Amino acid sequence: MKSISIVIPAYNEERNIRPVYEKVAEVFLPLKGSYTYEIIFINDGSKDETGEEIEALAKEDANVKYIDFSRNFGKEIATTAGLHRCSGNACLMLDADLQHPAELIPDFIRKWEEGFEVVIGIRKKNQSDSQIKILGSKLFYKILNGIIETEVVPNSTDFRLLDRAVIDEFNRFTETERMTRGLIDWLGFRRAYIHFKANDRLHGTASYSFWKLVKLALNSFISLSLVPLKLAGYLGIFITISSGIAGFYIMVGKYFFRWHFASTFSDAENLAIFIVFLVGIILTSIGLISLYVANIHKEILHRPMYVVRKHTDSSGI
Ligand code: UDP
Ligand code: MG
Repeated sequence: MKSISIVIPAYNEERNIRPVYEKVAEVFLPLKGSYTYEIIFINDGSKDETGEEIEALAKEDANVKYIDFSRNFGKEIATTAGLHRCSGNACLMLDADLQHPAELIPDFIRKWEEGFEVVIGIRKKNQSDSQIKILGSKLFYKILNGIIETEVVPNSTDFRLLDRAVIDEFNRFTETERMTRGLIDWLGFRRAYIHFKANDRLHGTASYSFWKLVKLALNSFISLSLVPLKLAGYLGIFITISSGIAGFYIMVGKYFFRWHFASTFSDAENLAIFIVFLVGIILTSIGLISLYVANIHKEILHRPMYVVRKHTDSSGI
């Protein structure tokens, strides 16, 4: 019998824990003969009663396991911890707020049985999403696909199933600044896609603010490619050459040919244009380089990715 691990990161989800648990249990009921399952909840430093809810469930049902973080480490790290400790032949990542329709789990499993090693949930457009979020994600995928080698399908979500082989490879990643989705895409493997319509959040509010999303997007650019760094170089070369030519043109026009156009620029103005350009280049380069340096710094510290207060004490975990 094959076993499936369901990994559910939870941050301030006290009212969603039981519903999501019941939903998963219900989905697995008809699959009882062919699959066993475990649900691994990761309590990501919630400030409400999420931890207590999970613990109560774990006492009731041996299929429920948990990891309790000492503080909030973010969803990406929480799912990573789940993947580190899951024991199934395949693992499925699910949001705690029931936005990912658990009733599709059998479809994910079917695709997996067909031989696909990664099954990715693709979200259909959501009416409630703000225009800026839609535009932002469009732009993000356009740029990302332009600069990295592996293909990332727009609107792909964390609602995905991974084969054991993928999980084992994934667990070799050591970076602490990470985007789980991006890393899985980087790994490759045979992929299948399942389209779904995201439900509205059952209880509570989404904890991913606009800025948190921007930070995530920036991080995935930096961790997946060196193009931004090179871009600063190209930009620098371009601006230096073009301003050099312009400066040369104005100088020659002014002192050799005495063109009217060229002589309307005073020396101070020429200098000002030149300096502004240079300052622009320097600032862009410094900004980008510092992002990389910050990343290097974090990786070199080699801090543990997360800190666990306690977890279910069984052989599987
Ligand atoms: N989450 C988490 N840590 C965080 C933020 C979110 O574990 O710091 C979990 C959250 O409990 C939920 C999932 O990640 O299960 C998705 O979060 P959310 O619904 O806030 O974001 P969105 O639906 O906008 O992706
Ligand atoms: Mg959500």
